[in-house]
Amino acid sequence: MTTRRQFLLAGAASLGMAACPAIVRAGQATARIVIVGGGVGGATAAKYLKMADPRLQVTVIEKNPVYIRPYGSSEVLNQHTTMQALEVRYDTLRDKYGVAFVFDAAKSLDPVAKTVTTASGQVLGYDKLIVAPGIKLRYDSLPGYSEQLAETQVPSAWIPGAQTALLARQLQNMRDGGVFVLAAPPNPYRCPPGPYERAALMTEWFAKHNPRAKVLIADPKDSFVTDETAMLGWNRLYGYQPPAEYRSKIKAELLPPGKPCALEWLPAKAGGTPQRLDAKTMTLHTAGGPIKADVINVIPAMVAGQIAVDFGLTNDSGFCPVHRTTFESTLHKDVHVIGDASIADAMPKSGFSANTQAKWVARVITDQLAGRDSGTPVWENTCYALAGKDYGLFVADVFRIKEDGKIGRVNKARYLPFDATPAQIRLSAVYQQAWIQAFTQDIFA
Ligand SMILES: Cc1cc2nc3c(=O)[nH]c(=O)nc-3n(C[C@H](O)[C@H](O)[C@H](O)COP(=O)(O)OP(=O)(O)OC[C@H]3O[C@@H](n4cnc5c(N)ncnc54)[C@H](O)[C@@H]3O)c2cc1C
Repeated sequence: MTTRRQFLLAGAASLGMAACPAIVRAGQATARIVIVGGGVGGATAAKYLKMADPRLQVTVIEKNPVYIRPYGSSEVLNQHTTMQALEVRYDTLRDKYGVAFVFDAAKSLDPVAKTVTTASGQVLGYDKLIVAPGIKLRYDSLPGYSEQLAETQVPSAWIPGAQTALLARQLQNMRDGGVFVLAAPPNPYRCPPGPYERAALMTEWFAKHNPRAKVLIADPKDSFVTDETAMLGWNRLYGYQPPAEYRSKIKAELLPPGKPCALEWLPAKAGGTPQRLDAKTMTLHTAGGPIKADVINVIPAMVAGQIAVDFGLTNDSGFCPVHRTTFESTLHKDVHVIGDASIADAMPKSGFSANTQAKWVARVITDQLAGRDSGTPVWENTCYALAGKDYGLFVADVFRIKEDGKIGRVNKARYLPFDATPAQIRLSAVYQQAWIQAFTQDIFA
């Protein structure tokens, strides 16, 4: 069995570095930072730590040697992009910034000895640990649903991969005039506008390729972020007629009903809450009754990635409580939790949030090691979403720690204005595409 010292020596040699001492005290520039998860949060933290101080020993433990980015992944379904285009590699982080990678699953944490052990038995010591494992889908939250069904028949595709490709095939080959049902998740969940964007993009795609098809969103909620501007877009693009309570809220002229709309949103109050799946008959049973479908996409409830539970970082909510100013776990010292797995109050579970949290934590850690104060944090988030391929929307927010000690929003205006011109709406869709490119560069290049 490889001893910890042998492992550290081997790791240092493979990095072309001098062997590091087994114990490095915080405060020294050679401090060891281990990061679990090389997705948006983990990879951003690794890059920004190395940019802040190239002497830091930053090691990312990541299950997969290629990252499949979730943001923009619904655009595989409407053939706007490909599975291959979602793939991101770690070469630049390794070769240009000197980040070390261990491609293995993290398995256990010893917060006293300050070590992480991987599935293959490697033991990594740390001075500071960052945990960014994303989410785990609770397939069992919908009776009748399971991971096995998700992989073979009723994909979720909320963590992108083979399920995304399966859902794309099912949708693109759906029978003429078929029904696509999307079971939306309960709060809190990754990417708040995402399920609605997915349904809208497929409505647009079906209009061209399967014009008699129907898209139904079965929702356990009565509202969603960007709902008003999304519904205005759906009205303009697909003739969608918003529920009565939204008509007065949408401060813009709605197009009068023409032909029946292919897109329908069933909120909780209209009986939309998914209650049970019968995969044999392809029926989603909702509070309002059964919906028979040709393609069903279940986006189930979610919690922090399993490793956060195994590390003892979660509370009863299934997510990880953190000290708001530092994102350090309230349960283990010198362990910071960022991204979808953390409890960040008003900050949504989005890539943008994970990225801005990661940059802040990189700063907190380098400041702590140097004995500096990091000052007062300010975070941002912008979620772009599409009502159609050329119809962009967004929600943009700035966050600070409020008097109650929680993270709260400080801005008032948040959304695309109701009176945005057609050019501004098209530009928002251009920004959405540009953001995906620039964001990926910011993290991985
Ligand atoms: C369809 C869709 C559209 C989206 N669109 C947007 C958008 O437009 N804008 C936006 O800001 N966000 C968007 N998001 C959300 C965004 O992708 C996530 O919020 C973001 O990826 C969260 O980052 P993270 O680092 O917390 O998790 P992830 O990016 O999921 O990274 C977690 C990493 O941890 C690894 N991991 C997990 N467990 C272990 C373990 N035990 N050992 C080693 N590695 C492990 C995983 O393999 C993964 O690489 C979208 C999501 C979806 C599904």
